[in-house]
Amino acid sequence: MKYRRLGRTNIEVFPVAFGGIPIQRVGMDEAVKVIRRAIELGINLIDTARAYSDSEIKIREALKGVDKRVYISSKSQNRTRDGVLEDVKISLKNLGVEKIDIYQLHGVNDRDAFERVLAPDGAYYGLLDAKEKGLIDFIAVSSHSTDILEELIRTDKFDVIQLCYNFIETKVEERVFPMALEKDIGIIGMKPIGGGVMPNPALSLKYVLQKEFLVPDPGMEAIKEVEENVRVAMELTEITSEEYEEIERIRKELGSTFCRRCEYCQPCPQGIPITSIMRAKDFMKRLPKENLRNGWFYEAYLKAQNCTKCETCLPRCPYKLPIPDLIEENVKLIKEFFGE
Ligand code: SF4
Ligand code: SF4
Repeated sequence: MKYRRLGRTNIEVFPVAFGGIPIQRVGMDEAVKVIRRAIELGINLIDTARAYSDSEIKIREALKGVDKRVYISSKSQNRTRDGVLEDVKISLKNLGVEKIDIYQLHGVNDRDAFERVLAPDGAYYGLLDAKEKGLIDFIAVSSHSTDILEELIRTDKFDVIQLCYNFIETKVEERVFPMALEKDIGIIGMKPIGGGVMPNPALSLKYVLQKEFLVPDPGMEAIKEVEENVRVAMELTEITSEEYEEIERIRKELGSTFCRRCEYCQPCPQGIPITSIMRAKDFMKRLPKENLRNGWFYEAYLKAQNCTKCETCLPRCPYKLPIPDLIEENVKLIKEFFGE
């Protein structure tokens, strides 16, 4: 098995990393089994975040007694210098380690977040402090926005970037990939199977794995998912013409409803976080119901009920998604999900 070099970190990783969002949904024993199976099969990079409730703690439990070298990447949404340093310390405690290999600024998706993290009292400098104190090895950033990713890469401050990449969200291929490669920045690919909504997960992962400079980190919560993802990586071949036809079919099927999180439709006069609602199925599939009921997702759902169908958002969407109809449809699905 050919491992992949994660850019200038020089870390050699198995071609698939372990995405730590879905283990929030399963109990401790199950999460430990799933993570250990992944490590047993060769996976050596686990991605998590302060925002993923008990994900870091489950990873700590799974790593107890494991003697293989497993790299950990965590992240914080805190935007301030002191705040992010505090988060690094909490992550260290949660994960039960003395140093975290890669620490990311989580979700720097817009200009406001970009400016806040790079201000003199911003989170980037908190991560530099953490690095100087020996608490982390590499500074990274995650973003859903190709425009912001380009700006983040230009700063040359990040060793690794984490971005959305799958055969529907391919915009990063144009400029972000070449820019990152030129600066030898490692790339972690989130949502390789569209957050679990792609109808053919193995083919979706296979598509992303074609880019040998990138390490996708599909979320996993079951041993069978781990084994399947590892199998796809181990048996990787070029995409066949039949598979390309299947990809085109899925693109057509999902293309008119799949939100690429570009945020061009914003701002909504009702303050509706449109992308959160458009991706409701993805969240409902991967996150525990009680977390969704008690946080930002429920607030987004309440706001979405106020959609006036004003259509302000419609012409702004480059993919011509019927946003007001999709909002209505998703509000119904969320209602059913919560049993309301
Ligand atoms: S149609 Fe709904 S979601 Fe779109 S801008 Fe108007 S209120 Fe917001
Ligand atoms: S609805 Fe359209 S414009 Fe809005 S984030 Fe999704 S893809 Fe982008």
